[in-house]
Amino acid sequence: MSLIVQKYGGTSVGTPERIVNVARRILATKEAGNKVVAVVSAMSGVTNNLIKLANEVTGDADPTEREMDVLLSTGEQTTIALTAMALNAMGAKAVSLTGAQAGIKTDGVHTRARISNISPEGVHELLDDDNIVILAGFQGETLGGEITTLGRGGSDLTAIAMAAAIDADLCQIFTDVDGVYTCDPRVVPDARKIDEISYDEMLEMASSGTKVMQSRSVEFAKKFGVTFEVRSSLNDNPGTIVKEETMSMESVVIRGVSLERAQAKVTISAVSDTPGTASMIFGAVSDANVIVDMIVQNVSKTGITDISFTVNEADVGKAEEALKPVLAQLGEEATIEAQDGIAKLSVVGIGMRSHSGVAAEMFKALSEGGVNIEMISTSEIKVTVTVSEDQIDKAAQVMHDAFGLAEA
Ligand code: ADP
Ligand code: ASP
Ligand code: MG
Repeated sequence: MSLIVQKYGGTSVGTPERIVNVARRILATKEAGNKVVAVVSAMSGVTNNLIKLANEVTGDADPTEREMDVLLSTGEQTTIALTAMALNAMGAKAVSLTGAQAGIKTDGVHTRARISNISPEGVHELLDDDNIVILAGFQGETLGGEITTLGRGGSDLTAIAMAAAIDADLCQIFTDVDGVYTCDPRVVPDARKIDEISYDEMLEMASSGTKVMQSRSVEFAKKFGVTFEVRSSLNDNPGTIVKEETMSMESVVIRGVSLERAQAKVTISAVSDTPGTASMIFGAVSDANVIVDMIVQNVSKTGITDISFTVNEADVGKAEEALKPVLAQLGEEATIEAQDGIAKLSVVGIGMRSHSGVAAEMFKALSEGGVNIEMISTSEIKVTVTVSEDQIDKAAQVMHDAFGLAEA
């Protein structure tokens, strides 16, 4: 008998028929002689709709984050009840649990809380009593009993953290594609399913736009050594195993290509090139809770320079507002300019540690494809460039071809 944690994402539980399909799969796993905890997401579109409703009732003000969590947690709560009901109607014994009921404790940072502790005794008792446990993804509670949510895509984190807490034998992330591909198969039709990928590669891909896994969930899996599989809820094809890297993984230079749309570039021109300038800029932006991604500062010849950085398009107004009050202190003629319609393109692979020339190859292929590069940043296993958003699909295909990713 194995202890198995499964997670079914929004599309997989997007209709009553799909919930019944998921219930059948869960039951089959149980009937094969296993103990099963199934984590489910909100039905597809539900979380987005709840966010839209919140914005509609608050007008120009931001919805209060505590209430946002009370609201958003209802999406997953609907799915756990429906999935447990479907299983019970099939004659199985299933119990639904909210994050709080399952002992998931978090810090108090509403809408992007971190899991601080899981007390899995209740889950174990239910499993020992022959129940299937249906667990709400994406949510927990603070020590004081406040409902929290774990950030977009957070059901992945619930599954991985619960798998670690109950020391599961297997953790399976079921989604609407067959696994992790060399690029988003919706963008690059000849993208290939990857059989095995290391935590570090999955983490870099997830944090540069490959939304098939939430990046914090991959971080957690790496920290606690949870091997997991990403696979389809619609067929029985083997998926992608995400695990600690092995020697043979290094022989592949580029594992995959990631893209992220809806980025914006903020440039502050004519700032004085003196100690404290960058600190003032990024201090102000961070105080406004805006996450900055790539940063470029030009070399100054005259004691005056430009600094550019990227943010999510949705945050550009907040970043500009945060900078206005400090602008005068940055330089007599300092100005701010924001440009949206930007996208990021990244190539990722642990093989880059031992191969040089990846960046050069990337730039050559993009130039031959007629794609203009705006900003560049590199890490040990990733090279990222920004390009115009209307060229991102083409740029992704060009990268995929240049590194021969369609061939096994
Ligand atoms: P779920 O609702 O199951 O959590 P998501 O929508 O979060 O599913 O993630 C699955 C989607 O991720 C796929 O439909 C696919 O379009 C997208 N995706 C982006 N990049 C990749 C990739 N490299 N491999 C697989 N899927 C990807
Ligand atoms: N329902 C949440 C979201 O849409 C969590 C998840 O699906 O993982 O972000
Ligand atoms: Mg997801």
